[in-house]
Amino acid sequence: MCGIIAFKSLNGLDVNEIIVKGLKRLEYRGYDSFGFAYPSGSEVEIMKKVGKIGDFSSEPVIAKIAIGHTRWATHGKVSEANAHPHLSQNNKVVVVHNGIIENFQELKDFLVKKGYAFRSETDTEVIPQYMQFFMDSGKDFKEACRLAFNKIEGSFAVVAMNNNELVGARNGSPLVLGVDEKNKNYFLASDVPAFLEFTNKVIYIDDGEMAVLKENSSPKTSPKAEFFDYAAGSPVKKQIVEIKWNIEQAEKGDYEHFMMKEIDEQKFTIKAAVQQDKNLIQKITDEINNAFGVFFIGAGTSYHACLAASYLFSHIAKRHINVVLASEFPNYEEFLTEKTLVFAVSQSGETADLLEAIKSAKRKGAKIVSIVNVMGSTLTRLSDYNIMMNAGPEICVLSTKSYTSQLAIITMLAYSCAGKLEEGKQIISKAAKFVPEIIDDNKKNLKELAMRLKDRHDIFLIGRNSDFPTALEGALKIKEVSYIHAEGFAGGELKHGTIALIEEGTPAIIISDSRTRKQTLSNAMEIKARGGFIIGVDSENNEIFDYFIKVPEAGAANSILMIIPIQILAYYLAVLRNCDPDKPRNLAKSVTVK
Ligand code: GLU
Repeated sequence: MCGIIAFKSLNGLDVNEIIVKGLKRLEYRGYDSFGFAYPSGSEVEIMKKVGKIGDFSSEPVIAKIAIGHTRWATHGKVSEANAHPHLSQNNKVVVVHNGIIENFQELKDFLVKKGYAFRSETDTEVIPQYMQFFMDSGKDFKEACRLAFNKIEGSFAVVAMNNNELVGARNGSPLVLGVDEKNKNYFLASDVPAFLEFTNKVIYIDDGEMAVLKENSSPKTSPKAEFFDYAAGSPVKKQIVEIKWNIEQAEKGDYEHFMMKEIDEQKFTIKAAVQQDKNLIQKITDEINNAFGVFFIGAGTSYHACLAASYLFSHIAKRHINVVLASEFPNYEEFLTEKTLVFAVSQSGETADLLEAIKSAKRKGAKIVSIVNVMGSTLTRLSDYNIMMNAGPEICVLSTKSYTSQLAIITMLAYSCAGKLEEGKQIISKAAKFVPEIIDDNKKNLKELAMRLKDRHDIFLIGRNSDFPTALEGALKIKEVSYIHAEGFAGGELKHGTIALIEEGTPAIIISDSRTRKQTLSNAMEIKARGGFIIGVDSENNEIFDYFIKVPEAGAANSILMIIPIQILAYYLAVLRNCDPDKPRNLAKSVTVK
């Protein structure tokens, strides 16, 4: 995790405008400290600070090259010394890094013996030091970088700066090059929104590749980009891809937080999710029907979408699918064959646990279908088929709109497997029409409810059938953004133990619909009988409910709608408890470490 942004420019760019603003756009990737560097005369000017970048801005400084980082610490506490960029001993090589260098101790021991002094506790610092080590032995900067990339093991995206040259490489963590050909500017970043204001033309750097940005020999000052396989040292040809996102989608606009903006965007993202190429959906449907063993895998929110898939496929397509947490999936490798079909569900397409799982499936010859939001992400390049979520950039660390897009796509696939694609699309489109009223009619009530719940220590959520994954996802939303302990259960499960925790006033959110109402409300009664405060999420009010949140009935598409009011509740709980909804503590979006 962490965000990297760097540039190399013909005429120079404002460091504050590109690096500081870029880091703000990448802050969802890590925010315990930040730093940046640019050349100043023969020296390197470095700025590092602990904490979120927030409103930070520096004086305008024009530079032709600069490098920045927002950190999510893995090795070494959160401190200025450990914040990136890190320098070589002679202060000439400047490095930012995303990921973990697994063999850093061994490399550090070697360098320390050679007399290199270290200034931080990070794994990262071995990278600039090793680069200097190779330069000290006569290699040029590019070759020193290449040799260093071959020394380090683990996952990384690295950008290194030396004088007027920038080198980036990746192995398992994202890194993308932005190309502004007209103004002769290049950007290297963890994610496209960091430079989207300046260009939508990108080159995705693949694992094992490095990009070298340096001055052209003719015309002298115009920078150029070259790409190499860093193990072999041989050049590689890359393609420029045009990104369809626009900068407004990556900006907060009039909203106070991305979280609410992205909740509101569900008014159109659910519809967009089912606008898919019919041939692609047919091919994937055939793959499901011909497969022996279908797995849906994901982590966090995406895992909850996979769990919903198990209900949706069972009821709509009468088809069994296996659901496994991405981090646990390699344990199932023995069961995989060339006839296995694996659905990998991920917003970013960069989640390390998921990519590891996909690699294990590919070793067994399984086919991979991704349901993913970020075009060009590692997952899209590892998959046989990609279904894009069409949700636009999701900047808030919490997933909201990507969850409902995943659910819409999964519901549509289940209908396609039942031979009823058009019917499925209609059901989803009809459900999507309810979204504006669910959001706009409930905001006020949910804020009021959040006022009543904000000081509680525990909130329980229950639901049966496809309302069960909603209960899990709702609990995750509340926990991660408001830090209130919340737990989701299948309706019948609470009485098998956890009901012991219900006492006078304990809030319980009951998610029910026409299919599950009877049984779920019996479970609600069990909670109420022990003093629980019952919040009903349903299309119909009921006398059991102490508080009612109306969500219109949408049949098989219910699960897409039911989560929305709980997302809004979680948002208000966070705001009222003075938590930052966009950047919850300890979390980062796209978890690129295992
Ligand atoms: N492992 C490095 C550190 O702890 C980089 C972490 C990150 O990706 O932000 O500094």
